[in-house]
Amino acid sequence: MTKKHRIDVALPSMPTMKEYAEEIQSIWQTRQLTHTGPKHQQLQKELCKYLQTPNIALFANGHLALEGALEVLKLKGEVITTPFTFASTTQAIVHAGLKPVFCDIKEEDFTLDPAKIEALITPDTCAILPVHVYGNLCDHKAIAKIADKHNLKVIYDAAHAFGMSDNGLSAAVMGDVSMFSFHATKVFHTIEGGACTFKDNALNKEFAAWRQFGMYGKEDAQMPGTNAKMTEFAAAMGLCNLRHVDEEIAKRQTVAARYYQRLGGAAGITLCAAKPGVRYNYAYMPVMFDAATFGKSRDAVCGQLAAQNIFARKYFYPLTSSFSCYKGKFAIAPTPVAQKVAAQILTLPLYADLALDDVDRICDIILGKQ
Ligand SMILES: *Cc1c(COP(=O)(O)O)cnc(C)c1O
Repeated sequence: MTKKHRIDVALPSMPTMKEYAEEIQSIWQTRQLTHTGPKHQQLQKELCKYLQTPNIALFANGHLALEGALEVLKLKGEVITTPFTFASTTQAIVHAGLKPVFCDIKEEDFTLDPAKIEALITPDTCAILPVHVYGNLCDHKAIAKIADKHNLKVIYDAAHAFGMSDNGLSAAVMGDVSMFSFHATKVFHTIEGGACTFKDNALNKEFAAWRQFGMYGKEDAQMPGTNAKMTEFAAAMGLCNLRHVDEEIAKRQTVAARYYQRLGGAAGITLCAAKPGVRYNYAYMPVMFDAATFGKSRDAVCGQLAAQNIFARKYFYPLTSSFSCYKGKFAIAPTPVAQKVAAQILTLPLYADLALDDVDRICDIILGKQ
């Protein structure tokens, strides 16, 4: 067993060089490198099928896809969201000129707590932006009920939820819009890339215009837009990766199962429980360490792993609500559950090609057996 090779929290999956070379060959004939070319169109079609969504718009990355969603829905005012997420979620809200209102999460799965949403609704509230964090699907039924009652839009940050479903209902069709990230480290990737899925057909042309400088046609710009197009080379990588994604998820499941077998039941360690009827993608391996019971803090475990060249990550710490750029800008109510989770959580390495020997080594270090 090699002791010192570096292990990072994620390792991008890749097709063989030959498969990618074959996929991109036709680009030399079409000479179409971007702008909704044949690769883009094919990926769009295949993703609609895979994600079971009637519509999808592809983007240069997930963050711009999320900003696009907030813009084409023409939102104004306050957005109720979670502080327990990656910077992108909150930054998209702020960058779109909206005000984030932070709501606490549930301790069992770290998703937005529906019981705490209604108290935060004001006449200025326009939307709810929950995150299927680590692929833990939000309580979408309760959230939909609240949104319907108060006439709010629901935009899911589904960056972690590629290919997931709840009792047959795809994560791509929960809410008005769902955003997926196709960043290199995600379960499915296009190097950099992202998408919005949605039921309302009318949004197709809005998203297309928004990512093309706000231009519906060739001359006039009818709305403020940006440049967020996916290139043909990125789409080609997506076409290759999509062929292997089920196999990748199955390999991730084997790795995750080893972690559960080794760490499950240890006093002071909490793992997320699987919910019946949910199809998981095994995107992340979040573990909570209660220092008082476990005997070591999250930071201590993180440090011990790093000393062995293993780089777990403190996803998600700190809470986005405590970012220095928001200081004094928004009224931020306390979110004690999110605070506690952020202090105890560590995301362990998990990717399709992670060897089970390496998982054992990581668990031995965590459990003090090495
Ligand atoms: C990765 C990620 C994003 C942003 O996606 P990019 O494709 O990297 O722009 C947004 N939200 C969450 C929760 C993410 O993990």
